[in-house]
Amino acid sequence: MEKKRVYTFGNGMAEGRADMKNLLGGKGANLAEMNLIGVPVPPGFTITTEVCTEYNLLGRDYVVEVLKPEVEKAMENIEKLMGAKFGDRENPCLVSVRSGARVSMPGMMDTVLNLGLNDDAVEGIARKSGNERFAWDSYRRFIQMYGDVVLGMKPQSKEDIDPFEEIMEEVKHAKGVELDTDLDVADLKELVKRFKMAVKERTGKDFPESAWDQLWGAVCAVFDSWMNERAILYRKMNNFPEEWGTAVNVQAMVYGNMGVTSATGVAFTRDAATGEDIFNGEYLINAQGEDVVAGVRTPQQITLEGSRRWAKLQGISEEERAAKYPSLEESMPECAQELIKTQQKLEDYFKDMQDLEFTIQDGKLWLLQTRSGKRTGAAMIKIAIDMLHQGYIDEKTVLKRCDPEKLDELLHPVFDKKILAASKPITNGLPASPGAATGQVVFHADEAEAWAKDGKKVILCRIETSPEDLRGMATAQGILTARGGMTSHAAVVARGMGKCCVSAANGVVINYKERKMTINGKVFNEGDWISLNGTTGNVYEGNIPTQDAELGPDFLELMKIADKYTRMSVRTNADTPHDAQVARNFGATGIGLCRTEHMFFEEDKIIPMREMILAKDEEGRRKALEKLLPLQKKDFKGIFAAMDGFPVTVRLLDPPLHEFVPHDEKGQMEMAKVMNISYNDIHERVESLMEANPMLGLRGCRLGNLYPEITEMQTRAIIEAALELKKEGITAIPEIMVPLTGIVYEFKAQKEIIEKTIQQVFSEHSDSIEYKIGTMIEIPRAALTAHKIAKEADFFSFGTNDLTQMTFGYSRDDVAKFLPLYIDKGILKQDPFAVLDQNGVGQLVNMAVQSGRAVKPILKCGICGEHGGEPSSVKFCHHVGLNYVSCSPFRVPIARLAAAQAAIE
Ligand code: ADP
Ligand code: MG
Ligand code: MG
Repeated sequence: MEKKRVYTFGNGMAEGRADMKNLLGGKGANLAEMNLIGVPVPPGFTITTEVCTEYNLLGRDYVVEVLKPEVEKAMENIEKLMGAKFGDRENPCLVSVRSGARVSMPGMMDTVLNLGLNDDAVEGIARKSGNERFAWDSYRRFIQMYGDVVLGMKPQSKEDIDPFEEIMEEVKHAKGVELDTDLDVADLKELVKRFKMAVKERTGKDFPESAWDQLWGAVCAVFDSWMNERAILYRKMNNFPEEWGTAVNVQAMVYGNMGVTSATGVAFTRDAATGEDIFNGEYLINAQGEDVVAGVRTPQQITLEGSRRWAKLQGISEEERAAKYPSLEESMPECAQELIKTQQKLEDYFKDMQDLEFTIQDGKLWLLQTRSGKRTGAAMIKIAIDMLHQGYIDEKTVLKRCDPEKLDELLHPVFDKKILAASKPITNGLPASPGAATGQVVFHADEAEAWAKDGKKVILCRIETSPEDLRGMATAQGILTARGGMTSHAAVVARGMGKCCVSAANGVVINYKERKMTINGKVFNEGDWISLNGTTGNVYEGNIPTQDAELGPDFLELMKIADKYTRMSVRTNADTPHDAQVARNFGATGIGLCRTEHMFFEEDKIIPMREMILAKDEEGRRKALEKLLPLQKKDFKGIFAAMDGFPVTVRLLDPPLHEFVPHDEKGQMEMAKVMNISYNDIHERVESLMEANPMLGLRGCRLGNLYPEITEMQTRAIIEAALELKKEGITAIPEIMVPLTGIVYEFKAQKEIIEKTIQQVFSEHSDSIEYKIGTMIEIPRAALTAHKIAKEADFFSFGTNDLTQMTFGYSRDDVAKFLPLYIDKGILKQDPFAVLDQNGVGQLVNMAVQSGRAVKPILKCGICGEHGGEPSSVKFCHHVGLNYVSCSPFRVPIARLAAAQAAIE
């Protein structure tokens, strides 16, 4: 059978279904499903994503040829249902051409509305509708959209002008009006004439008159847009493969611009920012398509309650609100009721919060899209937990619905409450995306990127944002816009990114050229500090410090559900009691990596540490180590106490010694004085520590083998700390970890020293505690000989940072020089230091676990590299059978959720 490339829908029938998103795209699949469940949707058809792939491989001519018969037949179906004919002069059937990939890619692909119009058809539409203004308004919109999207007239950079916008402004200006709705038929005719001239001027060709030419132009433009720069960037940011392709939806037009009984809008079945179970949305009367989102006029709220809330935030009185910005419930009560019923039906059916688009044509409601709505991390959790309680979904679905990465935004600091209470907002806007942000003002996305690269915190301030600003938005701390509603580009994108955003802030005037803005008269230049509260919409002058977030009951419930299904435990990497406590609050059940070297950089320890390193002989080293012992013991006591009852893996000294000694003259002089030897001696000793390749030099257990007294001191500090705490009723469970083992004998030698010291301390104290001795597996040779090492070790901890470095042969410190290029060129799909390389490094991990457990089934295995907090890597760890992952404190909840997901997948 010939491959089916086109799927039709309309009038309660559809060839597709909601579960066919891979083939029909998200939009097409849901349009089909809405038809099937009796929601009013204009008829249309979907060209499959497979055709997009054919288009990229075989080209335009082939695809048009092969599609023609199916598309013509599908168009007849639309014509029949609409009682109009595509390309007809008297009774033309107009369509929209819409893109739709598997998952929504906001702003990536552009839609063309009112396709099929030309100089004759516009008259036909005018006669048939009896509404000349509507006909010409549709025509001018069509030329504008078609010109931008299909004929490539959309401005590419901020210097470029949009010829259509310019003409629009001129015509409005000449007439002395501000809004597009103030233009009359004659103005619209004038616009059409000048738009077409602009097309001719720019492209050298007349605007296409034939409806079919228009259609194929638009269909191919959708396919082309799959490969445009923005789409490619978005795919890269989200790791979506190019092979997915986009579908094309062709759909009969319904008109929200037919006058005061028509409207268009967008709505959410629940609050996308907070997750509250409140239907909400925005609409505009006598408008079309994306007018609501584009901010051409101030959008109005659908519900009365929402409208009142909005007015309050905007400082608008009830009288003014009711007169100028009535809710849909007030302006079109019947349609509003219909919409409320429909949104409930959609949510009940799809069992998730829906983001919908609707149009009201002359009092009749039509749905144009429904999809699972983008939401903040907080809303994600609240909606999932609420829907569990409301009986929509079960616990496993709750876990699947929550994206571990999105927990991140909840865990991050909010404004310091005291300082916030003492600060007065300089203005207020819409709380478009919650959270707190503070930073320096910049006005252009590329500047935001550049400043952020220099390590600066920036707030991107724009009149409104567009998809071109994506990169800049991603690097900014927060986003402030002067215009746009809750569903503006800035708001939707910021929520998706989990980034704080205040939109439509009152009294904000931005001057891009002079790089300044005034907020209610006060001037802010580029580089000045402001702070945003995306939860309230408040904007503050200056830099307001932040504090840790509070975790609500929904979060705790989610974590409880996660723990119920998970097999792995989650530990943390922590070197201080404070970090250990933070991680414990986030649910860490132990420390997987406590580095001891950071402790030595503290002021009281760096001098004896240097004495130890610079000492001439063992005797000198032992003297210095004696000074370090009580200090180190104190550090361990703090950490053990914070982790009372949970295991703490302490890694013995790991980095090359030269990192600890002073390299400047002043520092070396100081050490000479402390140690009472000559400056030259010190200088020589420091020089002698220099290595050509320190990462592969005298470090890790090579240190402990060369200077056993260091291992002795550290072991003694660990065990004495644990024994002393035991007397206070605190349970320390130390796991002593030898770093950088490559040869089993390296480990054996260290283990002997450790054991001997432990027994000695035990007998001195006439007491003992539970302990373990194990090793990092971070050198490929250790992984390859794991069966030998496992005989000696109680546990393995995979140090995947070093293991990645040594398996790839990439210096962690120099990788930035070529990694971005590798990723750009597709040589590497991801940064292997961020996302575990499952095919290479992961195989070493897998092998070592298997062969280690073959000789010692109870061998405890964990991971302590950066990868321990990255969801896909955590899932891999589950599959290879690790007992735990260990990650930085703030990633602990993310790892807990990812581990649970791995267990139920
Ligand atoms: P996006 O993916 O950017 O949301 P859409 O294809 O959904 O783009 O369309 C853009 C706008 O045009 C939306 O507001 C949508 O509701 C509207 N629209 C699309 N097709 C039609 C149609 N056939 N009739 C009326 N409005 C339409
Ligand atoms: Mg769009
Ligand atoms: Mg849409």
